[in-house]
Amino acid sequence: MEQDLRAAMKKFEAAGELLQVRKEVDPDYELSAVLWRAKRGPAVLFEKVKGSKMRVIGNVNNTRGKFAISLDLPRSEILPRLVHGMEKPVKVEVVSNAPCQQVVIERDIDLAKLLPAPRVSEKDAGPYLTAGILIAKHPETGLRNCSIHRMQVHGPDTLGVNMAPTHLSKMYQRAGELNEPLQVAVCIGNHPAVMLASNMYGRLGSDELEMAGALFGKPLQVAKCRTINMEAPAGCEIVLEGEMRPGELKEEGPFGELMGSYAFRGKRQVFHCKAVTMREDAIYHHVVGSNHPEHLLIMAMPREANIYKSAKVTFPRLEDINMTEGGCGLFHAVVSIRKTGEGEGKKAILTLLTLNDLLKQVTVVDSDIDVHDPVMVEWAIATRVRAEKDVVLFPDLKTNKLDRLANKDGTITKWGIDATRPLDLPAEVYEYATVPAEIMKKVERDWEQYLS
Ligand code: MN
Repeated sequence: MEQDLRAAMKKFEAAGELLQVRKEVDPDYELSAVLWRAKRGPAVLFEKVKGSKMRVIGNVNNTRGKFAISLDLPRSEILPRLVHGMEKPVKVEVVSNAPCQQVVIERDIDLAKLLPAPRVSEKDAGPYLTAGILIAKHPETGLRNCSIHRMQVHGPDTLGVNMAPTHLSKMYQRAGELNEPLQVAVCIGNHPAVMLASNMYGRLGSDELEMAGALFGKPLQVAKCRTINMEAPAGCEIVLEGEMRPGELKEEGPFGELMGSYAFRGKRQVFHCKAVTMREDAIYHHVVGSNHPEHLLIMAMPREANIYKSAKVTFPRLEDINMTEGGCGLFHAVVSIRKTGEGEGKKAILTLLTLNDLLKQVTVVDSDIDVHDPVMVEWAIATRVRAEKDVVLFPDLKTNKLDRLANKDGTITKWGIDATRPLDLPAEVYEYATVPAEIMKKVERDWEQYLS
């Protein structure tokens, strides 16, 4: 299959982006420590994980470059492809004999034994499933939804779910009002495009599996689940079929989260596993929690595409966007614009700040600056900003409780840095001094020759 994790792994291997670790690693902290140490490096496949027969992979989605490799795209095409994914969903294709159903377990399920769920941060409440895509259907409309949630291993066949206020929580709430359990498939071990699609934006009822199809440019192949009325990506490694029951809550957390600090312990929903289907030699995908780049990027890239798409409507000269790693993929954006008139940098700041509650700081640069290069962004701030004119504050704007600095009334001061060149100085002032572009290109092209 070309839409599965293994297809991406093959491409990573060919590109020198897959590291195989043969040394036995402990799923408690050690495995995550390796993934932290290699946080900007290749995907890491752990061949031997203590206490488990399953191999574990991590750092699959930790760089934008790997996402580009997995879809055979140049880096610059990622953002447009994600926007396309939101705009032009492609219906799924149901197939039989799906790889994700080679093995079926319907009795004596023991998830702790079956899955090598690692522990990540020191104060986490226990081992967590972190890369599972939860697929559910609205109890009335039947429309599908996908989303990724942390799941604490509670018992042999139960997992805690942190739903946050999402489409999934709306579906669960409606099922509860109808006094029905919500059927859920938890799908682990997916192609990067399916992971990103599952975090993409849409209305309740816009189907993330169809957005995955749009990213691939062809229908996503899915399998009918065996014990619930649900579809799962046919090529995924492991599927947990089960349900969440109305009103059932259990203590969950703490867990090191996106903003790099712990989400507090609290009463949250529970998933009951009724069946496990998987590949014969299933690979378990683990995403390191806290603000590890893989965790951030899976969230940040769809967010960038969503903000970019909306901002483009009122600000067509917007070129590129980076929800930065230091900003937890949530709080800070760097955007580049093609500036033609004074005041446009500040217009871009205002436009972006109105589009997302959590976004609280925007840096605007000219389109000659790569928004993904923090040194060049700082260079633009150093050489193009007059602070008294170009730093702007917007007090008491709405945020949400993920920002722990929020005022009691749920607001925070947002701000922007307009690091675009002031137009009152001649262009030569800002000319970037370097070798001629065509020579640089030639050296890049012939790079191997300089190494031998
Ligand atoms: Mn949704």
